[in-house]
Amino acid sequence: MSKKPVPESRFIADRMLGTLIRYLRFMGYDTMSANGLAEGNAKEDTLLLMLAAQDNRILLTRDTELAGRGKEMAILIVSENVMEQVQQLIDRGLIERRLLMSRCSLCNTVLRGATQPEITGADYAPRDKKGLTFCWCDQCSRLYWNGSHGKHISDRIEGELKG
Ligand SMILES: [Zn+2]
Repeated sequence: MSKKPVPESRFIADRMLGTLIRYLRFMGYDTMSANGLAEGNAKEDTLLLMLAAQDNRILLTRDTELAGRGKEMAILIVSENVMEQVQQLIDRGLIERRLLMSRCSLCNTVLRGATQPEITGADYAPRDKKGLTFCWCDQCSRLYWNGSHGKHISDRIEGELKG
């Protein structure tokens, strides 16, 4: 009856893929960014490959040469359009079309349930809190709630993607 659970894909992405990184985090996928690494590291490509290998992450890149070096642990992202990029990963069977409020889109930290003082202390929270679930990023001290990712993004994930 229940499908066999597939191990959740984890990613590391190059600097060209900032928007895709945010979308993957909105979708609940553990996605490291090369932006978290030291800037201007001449050996950054090598570092990305090393991190992908040791952390069992799929390397996402727009760089043909890097994708070639990464062989089966790398994916060359072909489109510049973020929805087509997400669709490419769905078509490869690596991710599902979904929207989870489980990770901070800015820093990839797993969110936890927000406390009452955290909710009331956030002046950007909606005034009408009825029916909303609130989560908190300890790293960024940022409040999230269902809908805070923006209706725009959830509409696109639900409406434009196939599979
Ligand atoms: Zn965060």
